[in-house]
Amino acid sequence: MTDAPAPDLFDTPPAGELDAPLFDPKAFRLSAHAAALADRARALGQSVFAARAPTYDREARFPVENYADLHRAGLLGICVPKSLGGLGEDYRTYAIVAAEIGRYCGATALSWNMHVCSTLWSGVIVDDLDLTEIERQDHEARRAVHYRRIVEEGAIYSQPFSEGGAAAAGGAAFETRAVPIDGGWRVSGKKIFASLAGHADYYGILCTEVGDESAPSRRNTLYLAIPAKAPGVVVTGEWDPLGMRGTVSRTLLFHDVEVPAENALMPRGTYFQAASRWPHMFLTLSPTYVGQAQAAYDFTIRYLRGEQPGTPPVKRRQYPTKQIAVAEMRMKLEALKSLWFQAVSEAGPDPSKDQVIRAWSAQHAVMEGANDIARLAIRTCGGQAMLRSLPLERIYRDSRCGSLMLPWTAELCVDRIGRAALYEPGERDE
Ligand SMILES: Cc1cc2nc3c(=O)[nH]c(=O)nc-3n(C[C@H](O)[C@H](O)[C@H](O)COP(=O)(O)OP(=O)(O)OC[C@H]3O[C@@H](n4cnc5c(N)ncnc54)[C@H](O)[C@@H]3O)c2cc1C
Repeated sequence: MTDAPAPDLFDTPPAGELDAPLFDPKAFRLSAHAAALADRARALGQSVFAARAPTYDREARFPVENYADLHRAGLLGICVPKSLGGLGEDYRTYAIVAAEIGRYCGATALSWNMHVCSTLWSGVIVDDLDLTEIERQDHEARRAVHYRRIVEEGAIYSQPFSEGGAAAAGGAAFETRAVPIDGGWRVSGKKIFASLAGHADYYGILCTEVGDESAPSRRNTLYLAIPAKAPGVVVTGEWDPLGMRGTVSRTLLFHDVEVPAENALMPRGTYFQAASRWPHMFLTLSPTYVGQAQAAYDFTIRYLRGEQPGTPPVKRRQYPTKQIAVAEMRMKLEALKSLWFQAVSEAGPDPSKDQVIRAWSAQHAVMEGANDIARLAIRTCGGQAMLRSLPLERIYRDSRCGSLMLPWTAELCVDRIGRAALYEPGERDE
């Protein structure tokens, strides 16, 4: 494990020592502020996270040290409002910063996304939804408690919603149930693939509120922060996957866990409204993989130029087949980045049908494209490039995981795009 100290993220990184930005501020018309934050994330990723990534991967170990650095850099509170001590960044700036981190450690970027989404969903997304004045006041008071914990104490939130059934794809009510009790809920159920299991301080779960005689409904989904140390919370199962090994996505069991009302991360009924009206909330898994796509491409350029650290300075760029492969990779990279940048720029409430189709298309392009570019990188660079002493084989394995992530798996995106393109709402074939 490299013990390099994190750079002070509030200093400007030294010019010329960093990789080029994923999104050139001039070409993509970023604000100076967004560009500076992306620079700082890249400095942390390149100078610190990249060296630690092989150990987290090999040992399937959670990046505890990286989280301490993210806290120190203020990045745990990237989407927490400034008035509550956070950086107050918007959706797109977060996405660009997350992509920069994803270039250097996929598992850190992906698990950090689960944490940040806890603040995005309860933050700017709730702000865009219809709530009564009382609901809004209650929510404001509750989220201030969560945000203070994050900013001041470095509390980490995760986002386990997968259960192995149809719920995570949006097709059924969550099997994890919350029964109302005096002052809160009693929660029972199971979550699989719970990234940050055993390392988050709070598990932000989606579950179904039940209690009366009516059938469980997706409309009654609750989003609750369960303290990791609450009686009845159990972390179980192994985590020895193909890729994204540092996410430590083990299984969580909840046995009659009592959760106080103030731990609701969204008011009753709001999750259903958010999922219907703010669909870009599900696009946030993609920034990590934009970073991975760039990393696979960058590796190839360095390797073929004989400039990849840890390899002999042998040039291989002179072969036409390699030039063609690099052109193919670059075209794929440009296409996925441009589409993705447009889609994240459109995130907001009540998007048009075309905007939603574009978001699904961006997700598909990134999740399939990142692994496709990594595949081409391995084929093009050759055998010496896939040794475990180099990052490419990890990028190849990590990038394969993107398409599997619900609710917008690559398959489900194709499914939805085709259906939405051919049918208007309410249309049926008799
Ligand atoms: C590295 C990693 C980290 C993860 N972290 C988290 C996390 O922090 N929190 C979390 O909640 N989840 C997390 N997940 C889980 C992820 O989102 C999925 O839930 C999980 O990969 C689903 O696997 P499954 O085999 O149960 O999917 P299944 O539900 O069995 O689906 C298998 C495939 O069938 C397709 N499919 C599913 N439903 C339908 C349908 N209705 N119609 C058509 N096709 C369908 C999909 O394409 C899907 O890929 C993580 C996954 C990975 C790989």
